Amino acid sequence: MNLLKTLKNGVKVYELDVMESFKRTQDILNINNYSKNIDAESAYSPRVNKSFIGTYEVKIERKEDFSKFLKMVNHEFMNQHRHKIESLSISFDNWKTGKMDNGQRLGSKLLKSGYSKKLVDFYSLQIKKETKAFISISDIPQHIAGMSYYAEPGTWDGKKGTSCMDTRDIHEEECIRLGGALHDDKLYIGMLHYNANEVHNMNGALRARTILRLVHIDDIPCLVATLYYGNNETKDILHNGLLQLSECDIYSNDVYKDFTIIHNEHSNGCYDMIVIDDVHIKEEKEELMNVCCPMCKGTKTSEQYSDKLERFIDITCPLCNGKNVYQTKVYYYIDKWIEVEDVKPVKPYNEMYEHKGDSIDIQLNVGYIREERMKYEE
Ligand SMILES: [Zn+2]
Repeated sequence: MNLLKTLKNGVKVYELDVMESFKRTQDILNINNYSKNIDAESAYSPRVNKSFIGTYEVKIERKEDFSKFLKMVNHEFMNQHRHKIESLSISFDNWKTGKMDNGQRLGSKLLKSGYSKKLVDFYSLQIKKETKAFISISDIPQHIAGMSYYAEPGTWDGKKGTSCMDTRDIHEEECIRLGGALHDDKLYIGMLHYNANEVHNMNGALRARTILRLVHIDDIPCLVATLYYGNNETKDILHNGLLQLSECDIYSNDVYKDFTIIHNEHSNGCYDMIVIDDVHIKEEKEELMNVCCPMCKGTKTSEQYSDKLERFIDITCPLCNGKNVYQTKVYYYIDKWIEVEDVKPVKPYNEMYEHKGDSIDIQLNVGYIREERMKYEE
């Protein structure tokens, strides 16, 4: 992997040297009954901006989570009234290992010292693992089609252990939206993985993911994350990793907190999927129909011979009474397969924003983005 640059915070950015493979993409789409109708190559649009693409090596430290915990401990201590709460000194190591210096469990120490069960529950849900991880931001079709397919089944907390975009769930109708995702030229995938070289074969290596959207704030392009998919731990790692990429104008979904504006951004619309279908027509029916009068054939009159007059005379047609309408029973039977072809518009993939076809409305905290940008101004 080619090192492209190292950010001020130590994050290393590597080139994403993966070849696009429409065959691989089609193989993923073909599993599901709905996405198999998508033609990978015609659905895919090249992305309008390639500058964000790469593999970012991030280091997940937990100092921030630790200080969040200390703030809550302190808050309970300061706001105590009826119950007597004992002051505790908890180190980062105590927090990380869950044990006090004397070996007592941190959770029980908190409860015994008068702190709330809510605080202990908050503590036990906090992720303590410090780790190195990789976030690959990709526009490659197989990565987009595999946004859930590449996860190990059962390891995510979403639908059926991954998410509804997993083509391995062959009856999942939502998978058709992968066509919209392939088509949308401002949509990127952010993939969390633990080994750098996994990006060449993501099978089972996708720990968490988010769809990132290209938006222009103050005419400068940036990527904003949308929903996270993964489990409690991996989504947290993804979030923490994304927080380290603001120097590259890539933002976590913190950009939605206390949003200040509804930003409108142009988009390339729906994916017009060409669908060829064989339709079975089988029908047998007998019904009453009005037909043109078979006797007068529309003249409404009839020429009849009178023996007594000894000549032909014109009379009003006696079958239709001059109305040229005759009611009769008609029988038909058909059993045929017919090939039909037409365009089916597939809506673009949307999360955290409203898609209006040729543009999106996204609620953003622009101040947050501007503040982050200020940090890196020379
Ligand atoms: Zn008639």
